[in-house]
Amino acid sequence: MKQNKSDYAAIALFSGGLDSLLAVKWMQKSGYKVYPVYFLTPYMPIERALESARDNGLDLIVRDITAEHLKMMHNPETSFGKNLNPCIDCHALMFRSAGNMLEELNARYLISGEVIGQRPMSQRSNAMNQVGNLSGYRELIIRPLCQKLLRDTAPLSEGWVDAADMLDFHGRGRTRQLDLASELGITRFPPPAGGCLLTDKNYTLRLRDLISHQQMDKENLELLKYGRHFRLTDTTKLIIGRDEKENGSLERICQGYTLLKAKDQIGPLGLLTGELTDPLMLDLALKIFWTYHPKAPQSGTIIIQQGKKATEYNGQKVGPELLKQYRISYD
Ligand code: SF4
Repeated sequence: MKQNKSDYAAIALFSGGLDSLLAVKWMQKSGYKVYPVYFLTPYMPIERALESARDNGLDLIVRDITAEHLKMMHNPETSFGKNLNPCIDCHALMFRSAGNMLEELNARYLISGEVIGQRPMSQRSNAMNQVGNLSGYRELIIRPLCQKLLRDTAPLSEGWVDAADMLDFHGRGRTRQLDLASELGITRFPPPAGGCLLTDKNYTLRLRDLISHQQMDKENLELLKYGRHFRLTDTTKLIIGRDEKENGSLERICQGYTLLKAKDQIGPLGLLTGELTDPLMLDLALKIFWTYHPKAPQSGTIIIQQGKKATEYNGQKVGPELLKQYRISYD
């Protein structure tokens, strides 16, 4: 250790999960200045990170990397995981984005809460090396929770960070993390499942559908989070809310889309993306929509709202086979 600990600041990749929280708090407690940064993408709920930062007194910086992430998803350098999760490329992108902020924040190196051997795809040592190489910042990265088990990089070899402050956590067990949390006085943190939608098989199916129809943009990705999805034509989908919360979300983002509501019936909202000019397809959309009103009679009136214009149509229930034919879901 050649310098004072506070001479050089670090930027931390912060997801809100316990490991990234521990890495930040441990480094701060050891005397280092750390800027936690959350990288926003359409696949991870930001609420988890905001809450975790707030509960633990962290000043969180949020950066939107959606555009870069979308670009990467089209052509990742490494393979996808079990679903459509390109974890190595994704981690590399986050480190690269953090690295690109070093000058702005007057920071010198990058940290994360990764623990060697904890996750099958992205936290093996060769995967960590790949992440470092792909990011372009390999020599500036340290992983304080397991750095003792890894090769030294500049923060250690240059003496910006004291090797004695590095830990040797490894494997899938959580005991040492929980002990450290208690030592650091951390009592509130989210459950381990990170909630990345790219690891969810039904979400992934809907995402593959978007990709194959070349509709991977921010709006369509936002819609992908809510409701049951039905592919009607190459350009049109029907989305039906599954509960009140989802109906609220669909209503909130319905601008520019066609909204479906049952007249005189309590039930879900529907949203049509694209233009449905084929009357047969419109009829099908109405039938599917009406079928998701279990307490409604066999047929009834549906209001189609486009901006301020509202038109009434008739909808009739159909059988499960027809729903299955159009629904984008494994269920
Ligand atoms: S789980 Fe999702 S957010 Fe996490 S690295 Fe993989 S793709 Fe990225």
